[in-house]
Amino acid sequence: MSSRTVELLRKHGISPSSQRVHIYHYLTASKEHPTVDDIYAELQKDGHLFSRATVYNTVNLFLEKGIIHTVQAEPHEMRFDASPGFHAHFKCESCGLILDIPMQEPRPDDIGNLKISRTNVVFSGLCGECQKTEHKE
Ligand SMILES: [Zn+2]
Ligand SMILES: [Zn+2]
Repeated sequence: MSSRTVELLRKHGISPSSQRVHIYHYLTASKEHPTVDDIYAELQKDGHLFSRATVYNTVNLFLEKGIIHTVQAEPHEMRFDASPGFHAHFKCESCGLILDIPMQEPRPDDIGNLKISRTNVVFSGLCGECQKTEHKE
């Protein structure tokens, strides 16, 4: 169990139960922006028998405390991201892969009296693997 994760959870007012530590740890290690179902299935493969409801509630708690955020790449699919700081995303239109793209947060020239709370940048196209298969056909 990672003590850095325990500390981070405590700092954000989250009591670090072993489920929470495992789920947060999985989220930070994964570069795939998993859904609740992905997290549930992957942890189960590793022998952690948390219920789907536990995963769901834990992820919602992390969101509420601001230690993870959602990635809006598809309107009906909620994916989670524990990568800190602003970055853009790339979504493959063929296989659905979502990658982090380093990028400065864009600043609009003039927003009048609007107040921006979140910026979401998603590029879409074909990933390297899917470009290869496209060329074969
Ligand atoms: Zn792809
Ligand atoms: Zn990301």
